[in-house]
Amino acid sequence: MGSATGFLDTVRMENPFRSEAERLGDFEDLHIGQPEAARRAQASRCMNCGVPFCQSDFGCPLHNLIPEWNDLLYRGLEREALDRLLQTAPFPEFTGHVCPALCEKACNLEKDCVTNRDNELYLIEKGFAKGWVKPRIPAARTGKRVAVIGSGPSGLAAADLLNRLGHSVTVIEKADRAGGLLMYGIPNMKLPKIVVERRIRLMEEEGVRFELNREAIPEELQEFDAVLLCGGARKARSLNIEHMDARGVMFAVDYLTAATKAVLSGKDSEASAKEKHVVVVGGGDTGNDCVGTALRQGCASVTQLEMMPEPPAERTGGNPWPEWPRILRTDYGQMEAICRQGSDPRIYETTVKQILTDENGWINGLETVQLRRTPEGRFEQVAGTEKELPCGLLLIAAGFVGCETRTLERFALQADGRGRLMPEDGSHHLSGRLFSAGDMRNGQSLVVRALADGRRAAQEINDFLC
Ligand SMILES: Cc1cc2nc3c(=O)[nH]c(=O)nc-3n(C[C@H](O)[C@H](O)[C@H](O)COP(=O)(O)OP(=O)(O)OC[C@H]3O[C@@H](n4cnc5c(N)ncnc54)[C@H](O)[C@@H]3O)c2cc1C
Ligand code: SF4
Repeated sequence: MGSATGFLDTVRMENPFRSEAERLGDFEDLHIGQPEAARRAQASRCMNCGVPFCQSDFGCPLHNLIPEWNDLLYRGLEREALDRLLQTAPFPEFTGHVCPALCEKACNLEKDCVTNRDNELYLIEKGFAKGWVKPRIPAARTGKRVAVIGSGPSGLAAADLLNRLGHSVTVIEKADRAGGLLMYGIPNMKLPKIVVERRIRLMEEEGVRFELNREAIPEELQEFDAVLLCGGARKARSLNIEHMDARGVMFAVDYLTAATKAVLSGKDSEASAKEKHVVVVGGGDTGNDCVGTALRQGCASVTQLEMMPEPPAERTGGNPWPEWPRILRTDYGQMEAICRQGSDPRIYETTVKQILTDENGWINGLETVQLRRTPEGRFEQVAGTEKELPCGLLLIAAGFVGCETRTLERFALQADGRGRLMPEDGSHHLSGRLFSAGDMRNGQSLVVRALADGRRAAQEINDFLC
């Protein structure tokens, strides 16, 4: 283990945020990395528990060997620590930026948990800076060809493993850049796009072929021995109200995609929040990304509506450690809104009752209404609680209902009741040479789960081919 008293000698310290005032002026990384001494001290806090919940099913879905690489990092054996990390983690630079760190919530130190996410980011960035991360080109090719449809984290993780196993992999992506939601969805300040592009270049050097701006059509995939569908769960949940087609009403991922394209091109966004009153429907992570982006674009104000009640500040009895804590979190966008506007942008137990428009069909306001839960668990509107809010941009971040209909139709596939392509036997094998993975199989989830699922699908495909 690291230091026997590390967790007593050193306090937990995450990579600090840049100040709100500074980071609101750009789309650059939210955090400031820490030097080697600080990282080693943080790694020393890992106790190498007899039962490391951090790498159990409660913790890291990749089952990263966390106590082992924390110990190596503490002892200054950074290259060895990175090698140990890379045994299970395909792209620690992605999870090091965006993982909600399930491992940390399952850590025996509970609130004082070890900073595993920052430690892994430090290790991989050190590896890139020192030239330790090199293309891993397979010694021999099997002659088998696999098409991976979609270049999000599940597709990339599957392509990476299949390529290393010697298969020839082509990733087919309909967008103009690879990365799925890592590229167009998660904003640049949370995951700088140079980090995604660096990995894609490395994979190309390793022999993975990327075909961008190409939508997969089954008839054009005859040459492949296996086809893995990793198209995501991108069908957004809409609101059941009139005027959803008004100008200035957008789904969150479309808005965030336009924002990232603008950052990458250096031009103004086609859907800028500048000087607009912005209302975001959905109090989750996607909604928070919209809040942070709208503030950077110079919105006049931002409000976030959430239908659920405000979560408790602490774990309740029904949500014990090592489960994921269902508690109130104030994420970076909300922190920034508090700094800019003086109060939390979230309004709970509230939804949109009506979209108000002007004579040109532009949204210019909203009528909101409070919600309450009936004894049967349904939500109902509370009469007399209606309020008007000014709104020039309404962003819908109300969740996702499954994979896109177009891909299902093209491949003549039927999703289950939750919009997923999940084989009944729990495998990734749909039929014939067709497989599914990631959000398309499991529903909208997390990057780390998509990575783990992509790797599992790759192993199944390897068994199928060999
Ligand atoms: C705004 C937002 C922020 C998020 N932030 C986080 C976060 O901070 N941390 C976290 O862990 N998770 C986050 N998530 C969730 C996470 O991004 C997803 O769970 C993850 O990206 C799913 O990976 P995937 O590979 O299954 O699908 P996706 O990332 O959705 O990628 C699917 C890809 O398939 C392509 N595609 C689809 N159909 C076709 C076709 N027919 N032909 C060719 N290409 C096709 C799409 O263009 C896309 O590029 C966020 C999600 C959103 C929406
Ligand atoms: S990938 Fe996420 S859950 Fe796994 S070790 Fe890293 S931060 Fe923890």
